[in-house]
Amino acid sequence: MHIQDGQGAKATAMESAILMLSSAVKLDLLIVGAGFSGLWLLNRACREGYSALLIESDRIGSGQSIHGHGFIVAHPTVGPWTPTEAQAQQVSTLVSRWREMCAGSGEIDLRRVRILSEQPLRWQLPVLANSGFSLRRWLGLRRKHEPAVVERSGLADAELPASWHSEQRGGHMDRLDGFVIDNRSLLEALVWPVRPYILHSRGPVVLAGDGSVNLRVDGRDPVVLQAQRTVFTAGTGSALLGSVPLHIWQQSLVMLRGGQLPDDVFVNAVDDSGRRRFNVTSHRDAEGRVVWYLGGGNSDVSSTVDGEEQIEQVRGEIERYMPWVSLAGTESACISVQRAAARLRDAIAVLPVVKQIDGFITAWSANVATAPLLADEVMELLRADGLHPSAADLRAVDGWPAPELAAAPWDNVKSWLA
Ligand SMILES: Cc1cc2nc3c(=O)[nH]c(=O)nc-3n(C[C@H](O)[C@H](O)[C@H](O)COP(=O)(O)OP(=O)(O)OC[C@H]3O[C@@H](n4cnc5c(N)ncnc54)[C@H](O)[C@@H]3O)c2cc1C
Repeated sequence: MHIQDGQGAKATAMESAILMLSSAVKLDLLIVGAGFSGLWLLNRACREGYSALLIESDRIGSGQSIHGHGFIVAHPTVGPWTPTEAQAQQVSTLVSRWREMCAGSGEIDLRRVRILSEQPLRWQLPVLANSGFSLRRWLGLRRKHEPAVVERSGLADAELPASWHSEQRGGHMDRLDGFVIDNRSLLEALVWPVRPYILHSRGPVVLAGDGSVNLRVDGRDPVVLQAQRTVFTAGTGSALLGSVPLHIWQQSLVMLRGGQLPDDVFVNAVDDSGRRRFNVTSHRDAEGRVVWYLGGGNSDVSSTVDGEEQIEQVRGEIERYMPWVSLAGTESACISVQRAAARLRDAIAVLPVVKQIDGFITAWSANVATAPLLADEVMELLRADGLHPSAADLRAVDGWPAPELAAAPWDNVKSWLA
């Protein structure tokens, strides 16, 4: 038996000997990676009676999942998209499927999920009065509060949350079909029903030559896990498997906290050609301060843009387009997240991609909103393969340490700029 690590290196004879002495657990499904995809799948598998375990080497949700904005919207938020009729049909029912679950019915009980906004907005930004060439701007003398053309259309002030009521607001305002959730509360809701089946691993899970996994953690003897099917929902961690062409990119997000920031801003801002400019979601940190979490077009940056430059750009966008919001007294921070999505031809796949090769399944989701579709597809694959639910003897992993839940990005970052 040999063990493959990330670089394909082989285990030492000593490690192989330890493996042979370890106790073994036979089960239906082993899932690697506890982000939204893996957690969703574990819930579905357990509900359908499969014996399943989920292994995480870091904290639960610590990959992309805790870093998301939490828009649960019918239209995917990544990449250009021309759906087939069947795909459009699947996606059209997504928001109502989520709503049912948040109300306590449906495939997973999501009543614990905190809904932050029932009214996320799509804002086509105004064309600024001086958006053409300007000597002042060319010389770097940007005015702090450039007035927007106040032409406006779409929703009126009375239909919008209080923080949008301003004479200075221009552009076109619409509702997005969907809502915004608190991602950490979704992680909690997904963990709660299946907690005993989520196990911590010391270091990334690697497959042995026979497809089993040697599970290790400090203070316990290793346990060999032998599953009928292993599913990798490991985000960027699945890149080494090479089963799906991937698009991996870096996102750099800016956070503003404190000052007079209002807590009811949930917006997807696009320019007049429909290109995403920035997203804002509002949150409360552990000390109750309002935090704005800003991503979008501005956040897809090359690694050459440093954090302070990114902060400056994002603050500038807010000052230009939302001059009625005071940023005085707010602190800023920047975080970087690696994002991964399957690539189909030249575009990012906006619906889940599930591939099975030799009994190993890799599953990619580009959005949390489409996680139910990812689980549908994997469960369908198991059924089509004739894999019937069976019980497992899990005594060897009884009391096995569970991974912790990741903290929200704004509670995790230590260095804030005044
Ligand atoms: C900035 C940002 C904003 C977003 N906004 C939205 C939004 O508004 N709406 C929306 O629908 N989607 C949004 N998304 C997308 C959404 O968050 C992701 O599609 C989703 O979280 C992917 O979940 P995942 O479980 O597939 O991957 P991940 O969350 O990346 O989870 C993978 C897990 O696998 C673990 N892992 C990796 N390798 C191994 C290994 N070898 N052994 C053990 N564990 C391993 C990692 O530690 C990690 O916990 C956003 C994402 C980002 C980054």
